[in-house]
Amino acid sequence: AVVVVGSINVDLTVAASPLPRPGETLTGSSFASGLGGKGANQAVAAARAGATTSMVGAVGRDTFGTLALDALRADGVDVDWVEEVDGPTGVAHIRVDARTGENSIVIVPEANGALTPARVEESLRELAPSSPVVLLQLETPLEVALATARACSELGLKLVLDPAPAAPLPDEIWEGVWLACPNETEAELLTGTRVTDVRSAERAARWFSERGVRQVVVTRGGRGTVVVGPGGTSDIPAFGVTPVDTTAAGDTFAGALGAAVAAGLAWPVALRRAAAAGALATTKPGATSSIPTAAEVDAYLKG
Ligand code: ADP
Repeated sequence: AVVVVGSINVDLTVAASPLPRPGETLTGSSFASGLGGKGANQAVAAARAGATTSMVGAVGRDTFGTLALDALRADGVDVDWVEEVDGPTGVAHIRVDARTGENSIVIVPEANGALTPARVEESLRELAPSSPVVLLQLETPLEVALATARACSELGLKLVLDPAPAAPLPDEIWEGVWLACPNETEAELLTGTRVTDVRSAERAARWFSERGVRQVVVTRGGRGTVVVGPGGTSDIPAFGVTPVDTTAAGDTFAGALGAAVAAGLAWPVALRRAAAAGALATTKPGATSSIPTAAEVDAYLKG
């Protein structure tokens, strides 16, 4: 089983072309709403990959909170540790240019900012006996991330940190991290190494290894993943797909990888399944709506 500590948002996506300039109002061509937020995306990804999954997070006592909880439950995610707090649920307001596909996004954390270290520690202590793997991202308060890392060290849990969105972190966090899976931008911000090719990705990955992270996976979108760990260094090519929307590819990768580790799959097999899941997520629009099931990944890998 896995635990996901992280954000829960409702994504509100409008499309128009062109997009309005400041002060302008115009009629768009489509609207969609759905569950998003890096934490919720990873929880759905882990659950669809077959893991028993618990979410630790917060939503508001509003209709979006209900929508988010229902969507998590519909995927079988245990929401007992999702707190309902006063005020609104987190939202991502996404505007897509219907012609170019380019988007601009405003995220308002709202309830996600109410998640506390004390609550996370309590949840991990309770869930630890059945959940050896914990997934974490950076859309909840920094002190929550630090508390998660400390608790994972203490309880002997494998923490998978997706350091997204990119943000500077205090060095102490890395002692508690078992696996880090930054993309190129995040790897660069944290390590200072500009990641442009396999060699620079490897150099950036070593920065994490030197700080005690056991497995480092630098994800490079369609250019593959560079992995540095006790088994050495490898450059794994990406699967060939035609992306339509890369939203949640990284979350799908992290969730599927966490589920595979929790299931005890051999490391190369776990990486292969995560890469296939991430690739498939780019072939459909939306966040949680694009995340494949284990059966879809199986079918894809069989060709
Ligand atoms: P993020 O979404 O966090 O920026 P990436 O873009 O690196 O992360 O995507 C995460 C993973 O999803 C990649 O390592 C890869 O396995 C898969 N993926 C993403 N984009 C593509 C693509 N265009 N083709 C194939 N696989 C992809």
